Amino acid sequence: MLRQAMLALSKSRRAERLVTTSPLTAGVVERYVAGDVAAVVRDLTRGGLLVTVAHLGEEVAGESRAEEAVRGYLALLDLLPTGADVSVKLTALGLRLSQQLALGHAAEICAAAASRGMTVTLDAEEHDTVPGLHAVHAALRREHPDVGVVVQAYLPDSLDRCEKLGGARVRLCKGAYTAPGAYKRPIDIDRSFVRCLKVLMAGTAYPMVATHDPRLLRIASTLAVLEGRDQSGYELQMLYGVRPGEQARQAQLGARMRVYVPYGDEWYPYLVRRLAERPANLAFFLRSLVSR
Ligand code: FAD
Repeated sequence: MLRQAMLALSKSRRAERLVTTSPLTAGVVERYVAGDVAAVVRDLTRGGLLVTVAHLGEEVAGESRAEEAVRGYLALLDLLPTGADVSVKLTALGLRLSQQLALGHAAEICAAAASRGMTVTLDAEEHDTVPGLHAVHAALRREHPDVGVVVQAYLPDSLDRCEKLGGARVRLCKGAYTAPGAYKRPIDIDRSFVRCLKVLMAGTAYPMVATHDPRLLRIASTLAVLEGRDQSGYELQMLYGVRPGEQARQAQLGARMRVYVPYGDEWYPYLVRRLAERPANLAFFLRSLVSR
């Protein structure tokens, strides 16, 4: 219930206006969203962590905004070190306007990233965009075989998706939105996550295990050992600001540990999705609403 309400709030323009103008939210924002992205990335990589950087932005209403998003990504690439990955939301590149448009924009970002020794991963968003996401990913892979894609374990067809993604870089996560028919009980989502993990670890994909869940992290490393993958054969991914101590610990143990670093002014929907996952941080957020 609370999660549903929070996800509805993530789309509310009124709440967005209240929250983004409140000084009280600054502490929560700073914790999850990079202010100076180049400095944050420098610190993380010095600590032995890998990064995937997301220029925050959600669905765009017109082609010029999609072009603006592309320019944002091209400028971002100039700030990042070789080996970095960038995470891209296709709706910010115009997916809901036209699949072809989003494909063209994503291809431009992939080409620019490749010329700098970087990679691109396509984030998964709301359920109605998932078929378009995979169609664009399949088309991009012909030219850019290392472009990654996200599978959300809360979707019942996630296992099927994983089976079809042989050879690809695949980020597996639980799923941050809602979808009709999606698994809702945490236990069902976790079971689906493990079924997907088994397929990815046993197959030819490069699994990117995106979770903060200690139990799933243990299962991932056990499955990797059972399938004969060493630590270079998969990676772990966590969000900037979430379990930073564990991120550092994993890197020290030799894991390929990648941190998802979001930055940019359009942080409101991203932040509310994070709060929906972690009600412990809600107090800050609610105080910023009522203190107006
Ligand atoms: P949860 O169910 O949130 O938590 C499980 C357990 O993890 C908790 O019980 C606790 O033990 C531990 N834990 C979680 N958070 C904390 C914390 N703050 N401090 C201490 N312990 C904690 N979703 C999408 O829909 N599309 C995407 O493209 C996408 N990309 C992602 C990329 C990355 C790198 C990551 C990490 C997540 C991404 N997500 C994405 C979000 C994801 O779907 C989940 O909503 C989010 O990761 C929360 O799920 P969880 O697996 O961390 O476990």
